[in-house]
Amino acid sequence: DRIARKRDREFDDFRKRLKDADQFKVEQSVFDDATFAAIYKLVQDGHVEAFGGPISTGKEANVYEALGPDDTDVAIKIYRINASNFRHMRDYLEGDPRFEGIGNDKKRVVLAWTQKEFANLSRARRAGVRVPEPIAVERNVLVMELVGLVEDRARRLAEVNVENPETAYQVVREYMRRLYSAGLVHGDLSEYNMIIHDGELVVIDLGQAVTVHHPNADEFLRRDCRNVAKFFSRQGTDTSSADLYEFVTDAEAD
Ligand code: ATP
Ligand code: MN
Repeated sequence: DRIARKRDREFDDFRKRLKDADQFKVEQSVFDDATFAAIYKLVQDGHVEAFGGPISTGKEANVYEALGPDDTDVAIKIYRINASNFRHMRDYLEGDPRFEGIGNDKKRVVLAWTQKEFANLSRARRAGVRVPEPIAVERNVLVMELVGLVEDRARRLAEVNVENPETAYQVVREYMRRLYSAGLVHGDLSEYNMIIHDGELVVIDLGQAVTVHHPNADEFLRRDCRNVAKFFSRQGTDTSSADLYEFVTDAEAD
């Protein structure tokens, strides 16, 4: 009981420190008490040592840089329970055998979504796709490898001058093929969800990725192929969404 009170006090201190930290002042809405508790748990478990500044404020999640154990840098993606468009999330979760019967509860949907991103990152890695290494997940908070450095952040493909588009395209289509062979379709693949650092291309944002069993998996894959082919065509690569689709799916058969 005394220990429990001490723990509560430590948690309150921690929460206050976080709330006072400059980078959170503008975005308090992200952090309900349960989110603070999740971050605290990640600190206690040794996955996070200190929070850094925000990298991105997206529609559904905010991404922060942070210090992990042993001087590593990590990225922390925090899904907002309230701001999330959970109907849209539910459409991606329903039909995915991993999340059957998820229902309508907003909180449950967002928590499942965070778990799904973690699981998708793990599966993609096992399939040989370069994605950020997933480190830990707690409630609506996902900790992963920070691609690039705090001082030299990875850039989106959309923001850089792609030096060798032909090679980059071959890498991307091979990643798409491997992902598909592993039973996953990214579902939001474009130059905005690929980042590049030191010449290495990394696929990110796998929250919405669905298994090939999802009733809309084929539609999502075709859309991914259109986005990717369009981007690389603009870079002068000779490709089309049909070619890409064939490359990605044909490999399944053999
Ligand atoms: P959006 O709504 O803009 O698509 P999102 O909320 O879906 O964003 P992500 O696409 O996963 O979130 O990440 C947003 C941005 O944060 C990325 O474009 C990238 O710049 C940065 N980012 C995300 N994860 C990492 C990471 N592991 N390492 C480095 N940067 C990252
Ligand atoms: Mn994104």
